[in-house]
Order: sequence, then C-alpha cells, then structure tokens
Amino acid sequence: MRVAYLGLGIMGQAMATNLVKAGHEVTVWNRTPGKTVEGAAVAPTPAAAAQGAEVIWLCVSDTDAVHEVVFGPDGIERSLTEGMIIADSSTISPSATVKFAETLAAKGVKWVDAPMTGSKIGARDGTLVFIVGGDEAPVEALKPLFAAMGKKIFRMGETGKGQATKLAMNLQIAMIYEGFAEALTLATKLGVDTQQLVQLVEATMVRSGVVEYKAPFVLQRDFTPNFPLRLMHKDIRLTLEAAKEARVKLPGLETVEEVYEMATEDGHQDLDYAATLTLLEKWAGVQVKGKAA
Ligand code: NAP
Repeated sequence: MRVAYLGLGIMGQAMATNLVKAGHEVTVWNRTPGKTVEGAAVAPTPAAAAQGAEVIWLCVSDTDAVHEVVFGPDGIERSLTEGMIIADSSTISPSATVKFAETLAAKGVKWVDAPMTGSKIGARDGTLVFIVGGDEAPVEALKPLFAAMGKKIFRMGETGKGQATKLAMNLQIAMIYEGFAEALTLATKLGVDTQQLVQLVEATMVRSGVVEYKAPFVLQRDFTPNFPLRLMHKDIRLTLEAAKEARVKLPGLETVEEVYEMATEDGHQDLDYAATLTLLEKWAGVQVKGKAA
C-alpha cells in the first residue's frame, strides 16, 4: 500500500521501517529534519507526504501535535481525498479524536485511532498490540499494515474507543510500575535482596508483563527511555482529564500523577518512566541494587 508515515520518534522510526520491510511504498516526514528510514521517500511537509497516499499513519507526541500535522499550515488536510484512511498511533484525547474524525468525515476520509502497546522493543520486533477504534471497513483495509508492525489487533468499537481503551491500559501500567518501584524501595530499606525479590515476584501471582519488561532495566539502573517519563505523564494527565469529563474519580492515579510532577521537577522527564523510582529512593535515602549496580 502507499503509506505516508508522519513522526519518526522512538516508535515511529521502527514502525515505518517495518512497513518498508513488508514491501509497502512509504513516504516519511518528521518535524525535525534529518530523521529518515531506509527504503522510504522523505517529504518536506505532512501535506506533501500525504499526496496520493492511501493511508496516512500518525505517530506524534500528543493531541496538539496531531492537530498540527492534520490541520496546521502544512497539515495533511489539504491533501486529503475521498477514500483515504488516517490511522493515528499517537496516544491522544478520545474526545478530541472524535472531533477530528467528524471534521474530516465530510471529505470522505475515515479516521481509525490505533494506539499501541509494546514499547520500543515491540516496535522494533514488529510485535506491537494495536488497540483500535473505527468503522469495520477501514480497520479491515489496514490489516496488512497492522500485520507488518504488530502481532495483534483489538477493535474496541467506533472511533475514539481505541484511545479510551489505551488510557485505561496505561492507567494500569503506571500504577503497576509504581507498586513495583515502591516495593523495591521498601525492600531495599528493610535489607531484602532485590534480585531475589524479583525472582519471587516472577514465581507468584504478583508477576506481570510490566515487571517482566522493566525489571532488567531497573536492576541495571538503565533509565534510557523506552517510554519517556514525559509521555507517560502526558498519558496520566489525559486519563485524569477523560475521567473528569466522565465524572469518574481516580484517587490512586491522582497520587501517581503527583509523583510524576515531582520527578519532572527533578529533571527526569526525558528518562524512562521507570526513573520515578529515583524519587522514591531519594525520599527513602536508599538506592535499589541489582545485577550490574
Ligand atoms: P518520541 O520519541 O518523543 O517522538 C515524538 C514524535 O512526535 C517525534 O517524531 C516528534 O518530532 C513528533 N512531534 C512532537 N510534537 C510535534 C508537533 N507539534 N508537530 C509535529 N510532530 C511533533 O515519542 P514516541 O515514544 O515515539 O511516542 C509517540 C507516540 O506513541 C506518543 O503519543 C506516545 O504516547 C505513544 N506511545 C509510545 C510508546 C513508547 O513506549 N515509546 C508506547 C506506546 C505508545 P521531533 O523529532 O521533531 O521532536
């Protein structure tokens, strides 16, 4: 398929590479010039990238960034023609997604929200899980592209439901990780071997995919971003906003948000969100030790 891929960050770079490898005709664009993908054409603007494409895939930071690449001065809006599909893998506001889709429906353009989970390793290995909202026909048409970048698709309902579900997923990831980080901090302070604690976690019902993914990084004190803290913070805020719109109270997540706020004040926003651990360590006056630490 002819695909315009907009946004070559941690996720987008790897995802566009997998589209090229699967034989699709890909044109890429990134806000900061210089990022490229081997085998893909490079366009100077989103509008230019979208010219003649069948599918425009977005993977940028947040709701404002999506608005900019779609409706901004160089946005794709001017290049859209009937039958084109926009697939948005950025994690953004569910209610803004519905508004964007409604605005473009008059042009005969379909919007599929396709946020994903699997992080940097899932993007690299083509094993992402897509959490999708949109009409059945465009979701079906996108299947070869989903297959090139991921291992599973869950269609959660109409446009917006993918983003809504993604927020419900990241709510859990953020809170499971904070539970793990608090446990590591307390265990260290109480003199427990954290390596053994992790082995115990993995052998019991406490285990989780989040801990499985994060433990090796944390025990080596490797906080280079797989999923940057600033983006998880953005997702926590989006979740709290969506909860407010729906009149739902999330007291646990509100507390976790404060931890992220303070981690950002400490300058950790560009590290992985696992670095919220360092704040807990500072408060406790300990450092969690693992394999290479
Ligand atoms: P990233 O490495 O920070 O990349 C962000 C991308 O968005 C860059 O290409 C950046 O361009 C672009 N961008 C930011 N603001 C923009 C604007 N106003 N206009 C145009 N482009 C703009 O982020 P990422 O980790 O790839 O994440 C991308 C999206 O996927 C986010 O919504 C994130 O929440 C979601 N996500 C990430 C993960 C993960 O584990 N990393 C997992 C699931 C979902 P520049 O290069 O110019 O800065």
